[in-house]
Amino acid sequence: MSPTAPEREQRLRELVELVRERNPFQRARLSEVDPADPDLLTALPTLAKRELVADQGDHPPFGSNLTFPIERYIHMHQTSGTTGRPLRVLDTAEDWAWWRAAFQRAFAAAGLESGDRGALAFSFGPHVQFWAAREGLEALAAMVVPLGGMTSVQRLQTIAEVRATALMCTPTYALRLLEVAVEEDLEHALVTIARVVCTGEPGASLPAVRSRIEEGFAARCFDHAGLTEVGPFGYPCSEGGGMHVDEQEFICEILDAEVRPVPAGERGELVLTPLRRRGFPVLRYRTGDVVLNTDERCPAGHEDRWLPSGIVGRTDDMVVIRGMNVYPSAIEEAVRQVSGAGEFLITFYSEPGGMDEIKLEVELADGAAARGLQESMRQQLGLRVRIVPVAPGIVPRQDGKARRVVDTRPSRWVSA
Ligand SMILES: [Zn+2]
Repeated sequence: MSPTAPEREQRLRELVELVRERNPFQRARLSEVDPADPDLLTALPTLAKRELVADQGDHPPFGSNLTFPIERYIHMHQTSGTTGRPLRVLDTAEDWAWWRAAFQRAFAAAGLESGDRGALAFSFGPHVQFWAAREGLEALAAMVVPLGGMTSVQRLQTIAEVRATALMCTPTYALRLLEVAVEEDLEHALVTIARVVCTGEPGASLPAVRSRIEEGFAARCFDHAGLTEVGPFGYPCSEGGGMHVDEQEFICEILDAEVRPVPAGERGELVLTPLRRRGFPVLRYRTGDVVLNTDERCPAGHEDRWLPSGIVGRTDDMVVIRGMNVYPSAIEEAVRQVSGAGEFLITFYSEPGGMDEIKLEVELADGAAARGLQESMRQQLGLRVRIVPVAPGIVPRQDGKARRVVDTRPSRWVSA
């Protein structure tokens, strides 16, 4: 049951009072804010990752966004740093228990329970989600089956031998594992998997990706989301697909670039305030995740805000091509609808004349599929895309988050 609006406001007020008093980074930012302000949330400045990164550069190694003495912190994780310097984020024991409870809720929403065996197809590096996923399974009294440091074949063999019932990984990796199972004649290895719980990329909320995973595994596929800086904010909607924002723990805003709420039916940036993570607090954090703002309720009538298409993309992976906003996830959705289509690579480039263009190298069975895909891009996205069919197995495979976008247009960054 989510807290009522006055309860949420009270929690926010207490958090602001606490961090203004104890947290050097927040004290400096919130000096002008009156905790008694009736419209406290909108009186707070938004916070971007680069500000935290800059603070950490000024105050190494952990920065000054710390509410408690350093001895209180028991976990360090870091962001992937794909779009800049990695950020270290610390958690106290209390905050770590909060992560654990949130992952427990997310996995329970995907139908996991005691007796399940959850295979974690992660490398267990410095990223929080691996460790928090392990905690969440443990909190459910499910069995944790770590698959770090293994090849895909070894993972398949382990899944088969221990009869794992759930798989946690990125949607890209779920598709990769299916491909390896077919290549290695190990499809039987996946028969016990009833649930694939994905995170890290938009895929699991894209209908075409989800149905590929569900058909390939003969299992249900769920999506959830979190960020090292804010915490695990999205849990799966088992009825309607996509995700819900955990409004028990987070205040959720969907804003445009000028920090104004976007109207229903439009896309905006997800801006989150975790109410009970106090050790490394972020208030009105600009996640960089783009979501669709809808006032629609999910079919099950769950109270928390519904993100029917999950995370649509990142603010920094949206590109403008000939005046149109293009998200790589929309291109992915179109590719996955083509039966037999494999991996792909998107290149944004400029013609000598200065026109921006899109090239899509994609593994396809034949030329007819290429023409069909070109047509569906035109109809669904209004985009002219140059399709370059390549043979299956040509596009490099990745185990974690996929890097499928290259931007060679002048003075732009190459995608993480
Ligand atoms: Zn729902």
